[in-house]
Amino acid sequence: MSLPEAGTFLLPPALAELRPRVRAFVQDEVIPAEDAVLAEARDGHSPTLDALRRKARAAGLWTPHLPEAFGGLGMGPMGMCALFREMGRSPVGAAAFNCDAPDQGNMDLLLKSGSEAVKAKYLKPLCDAEITSAFCMTEPAPGAGADPSNLRTTATRDGDEWVIEGHKWYSTGGENAAFLIVMARTSDDPRTGASMFLVDRHAEGVEYVRRIPVMSEDVLHHLEGEFRFHGVRVGDDAVLGQIGEGFRLAQVRLVPARLTHCMRWLGLADRTLDLCRDYITRRKSFGKELARHQLIQQMIARNAAGIHAGNLMTLHCASMLEAGLDREAKPYSSMAKNHVANLLCQVLDDAIQMHGGLGYSEDVPFSRWYRSARAARIADGPDEVHTMVVARDYLRGRLDLLV
Ligand SMILES: Cc1cc2nc3c(=O)[nH]c(=O)nc-3n(C[C@H](O)[C@H](O)[C@H](O)COP(=O)(O)OP(=O)(O)OC[C@H]3O[C@@H](n4cnc5c(N)ncnc54)[C@H](O)[C@@H]3O)c2cc1C
Repeated sequence: MSLPEAGTFLLPPALAELRPRVRAFVQDEVIPAEDAVLAEARDGHSPTLDALRRKARAAGLWTPHLPEAFGGLGMGPMGMCALFREMGRSPVGAAAFNCDAPDQGNMDLLLKSGSEAVKAKYLKPLCDAEITSAFCMTEPAPGAGADPSNLRTTATRDGDEWVIEGHKWYSTGGENAAFLIVMARTSDDPRTGASMFLVDRHAEGVEYVRRIPVMSEDVLHHLEGEFRFHGVRVGDDAVLGQIGEGFRLAQVRLVPARLTHCMRWLGLADRTLDLCRDYITRRKSFGKELARHQLIQQMIARNAAGIHAGNLMTLHCASMLEAGLDREAKPYSSMAKNHVANLLCQVLDDAIQMHGGLGYSEDVPFSRWYRSARAARIADGPDEVHTMVVARDYLRGRLDLLV
């Protein structure tokens, strides 16, 4: 499937050349293999995914977001935007290029803030997809959730070590991770009271409580884990950045990570709409193809405009991050996240509707994709919190709309 000229909007020539290669790889290699990849992952194996990864490496498309020294192509947020959208056309696409969450965001965070010891032990194998990782910020009530200031997990100084006590859940991928990035309270200061620690998943005192049963089926290592930390001891080299930088680093990690979610979700929304077009141009009702009924056209047009709007929001925000405007990008990333998360749910819901009984069945992937997509409106901050950020910044005159 080729890309139209409009698919190169705002992209420098090198990226415009790379993007169709990723699209072709996803179309020709990943999509035909996605059922096998998912079935094998449920059985704890990954031969098909491993083979895809070898091919992605051989094609020079591996971890494009990483610096060349770590095996990547040194792409910034604009490059990621161009390529992650393509990968997102398959739920296993990002994993094939080792660009999946939460590992991709954790790679970026370790690159920016990991000690040399941490980088040597964990970053290289993570970049090579030899290990996986998890990010542990959220806690069951009354701890940190939509409001991170509720953080209850503590790290207390004892001699030359830090001792971590706490309870986390929704640590995606924690079950099979080699390490966890744990957010813990190190003082009561509202701004500088949190710090991030890298904790070996199998360190003494790390209890894996359970895999949380959730609405979606298992997708690779996207298993939702619950942990308790009982006096887990780590040294100073496990601190990411400096003590007291936890809330700042959370923004450093979450703003771009949120945007990469948008990129992947846009890819899946676009593929879903493509599949709808195929069906409604073939299926007839009341004497004509579904595509010729105006109520169907209305759904198509609404979703096409929604994908395009989300794409522009994401590209714009990526361009701000590329220019180093991280703080200014925050409300735009909230707006993009809300828009694209809701859009993906809407596109999938409409796809089910347009396919009728077939859409509701498991013969097509929409209900499965919808169950995963529904989390998009909660994970990385629920809709309401991002809405609050957008309204607050707009009311303070900090949000230009006609960029
Ligand atoms: C599939 C999935 C994967 C996740 N992965 C991770 C992960 O890897 N690491 C991690 O640390 N966390 C992860 N999370 C957790 C996620 O970030 C939190 O669920 C989210 O931030 C909301 O926190 P909470 O669940 O505690 O909801 P709560 O804080 O209990 O909020 C409940 C609801 O209250 C409403 N609400 C909250 N604040 C406001 C407000 N100001 N105004 C109006 N309404 C409001 C919202 O509707 C919200 O959904 C994941 C969650 C899901 C569902």
